[in-house]
Amino acid sequence: MGGKQYLLTPGPTPVPPQVLAALAEPIVHHRSPDFRPVYESCLTRLRDVCRTSQEVLMFASSGTGAFESAVQNLVTRGERHLVVSAGNFGERWASLTKAYGAEVDHLQYAWGETPDADDVRARLRERDAKAVWIVHSETSTGVVSDIQSLAAAAKEQGALVVVDAVSSLGAVPCETDAWGLDVVVSGSQKALMTPPGLGICAVSESAYAATGDTPRFYFDWERTRKAQQKFDAAFTPPVSLVAALDVALGLLLDEGLDTVFERHVRLGRAARAGAKAMGLELFSPDEDRSAVVTAVHAPDGVNADDIVKILRDKHGITIASGQGDWKGKIFRLGHIGFFDVFDITTALAAVELTLAELGADIERGVAVTAALEAYEHTQVA
Ligand SMILES: *Cc1c(COP(=O)(O)O)cnc(C)c1O
Repeated sequence: MGGKQYLLTPGPTPVPPQVLAALAEPIVHHRSPDFRPVYESCLTRLRDVCRTSQEVLMFASSGTGAFESAVQNLVTRGERHLVVSAGNFGERWASLTKAYGAEVDHLQYAWGETPDADDVRARLRERDAKAVWIVHSETSTGVVSDIQSLAAAAKEQGALVVVDAVSSLGAVPCETDAWGLDVVVSGSQKALMTPPGLGICAVSESAYAATGDTPRFYFDWERTRKAQQKFDAAFTPPVSLVAALDVALGLLLDEGLDTVFERHVRLGRAARAGAKAMGLELFSPDEDRSAVVTAVHAPDGVNADDIVKILRDKHGITIASGQGDWKGKIFRLGHIGFFDVFDITTALAAVELTLAELGADIERGVAVTAALEAYEHTQVA
């Protein structure tokens, strides 16, 4: 028998059984009454989850594809753009905007730092930019930035705000309209509890008004917006994924977004409390906002890649090592989407066992209790 598998990577994430069941339904035609109500429901729920009154555009792509749509629609060769990075994904957006010929001003923080609104303001005063590109939850480090204040700084200086919310949408608050976010990009495979394959993009009227003439076709926002407004997709959508996403969004909205956010805060607290109780040092910030990914330093003399490998091969638990320069040095536990505290305690127990096996000097027998207490007995403001 294949052993039981546990998925705790920062994406893709586990998918609830109801969502998996929707994927097994027969294929329907995308321009028939079998599909349109599902499409309409899914698009409506996406607005609710993004907290926007705008059409949320949906593409068959990964999150990076939806991000590329923003670049194709907003970047014209030679224009000035400000990219803020503090990890792998921010650096990806610097490369992507440069690939389309943007003249990129790169506000680059070290991995693990938290971007600061005053720095954004100062950079824009020195040199204006058409748009500021920022990452909400930097999955490579576990840092969740204060997108509201970063966006406010950008707007003060007249720039559009484009947000990578791939790992944050549906896990931590992302108020698209209230915070004036012009573009919010996400994907199906993280907090939205659906398999990989759908990229989404919430776009403001100011962003539509600012589109340029870079060649594009599939990812042209206007084409997709017009088609979606009639519930008549521009191209064949992955109908099974749309049906699955509709179920997943229904689950999120039934639980209530605020309850979902609170659960993630508690999951983050539990993961951090457990790691600290073992005597490990956190890499991600020890703060409630860091509710998506918990990144932890491997103890002295232990390679994080070995932890990841033993967890997977011996215990059926998949977590992630660090990326970039942090590969082998940190390990990352994702707690995004379909998670409860017992997923955290399972992972902590297995990490403890694995570290003991690797000869690390850790405190045994305390992580699970610390995690349960942090989850249950602390108030969320
Ligand atoms: C996962 C992730 C992405 C990449 O999404 P793909 O679907 O792999 O293209 C981008 N940004 C962040 C913050 C992510 O966590």
